[in-house]
Amino acid sequence: MGYEFERVDLPEPAATARGRYQACSDLEHLCVHAPPCWEEYQSLAAAYQFHLNIAGMALCRDCMRRTGMTYQAISQPFPAWPFNGIDDWRSADQSRRDAYHEAERAASAQTIAGMVGIPELSEAVTHGGFTVR
Ligand SMILES: [Zn+2]
Repeated sequence: MGYEFERVDLPEPAATARGRYQACSDLEHLCVHAPPCWEEYQSLAAAYQFHLNIAGMALCRDCMRRTGMTYQAISQPFPAWPFNGIDDWRSADQSRRDAYHEAERAASAQTIAGMVGIPELSEAVTHGGFTVR
């Protein structure tokens, strides 16, 4: 198991590259851009991403707690998918898909307004059959 982190509020031009990749990957066809949207997004966002395996995450989490980088928070629910299937998703206005991506990123961040640091969820959160504490 690994952990993939990325800043929610990417600076430019990484933010535009992420938006373009998401818009392109939402479509039915494969990306035909040069350079491919995924590669450009990953290249520009790399400085704002962080990857750990499960052992590294335990060590990192303990260090962050001891140095006051985290705060306790209660998990916030993810938004319900407001589309009626994949055809509705693909044919929806881009602004509708963008609104869902934004709500999903906000929920993924699990931040609480007014709090500084990284939220640690006090409830177990289940993602795809795995429980993260
Ligand atoms: Zn593309």
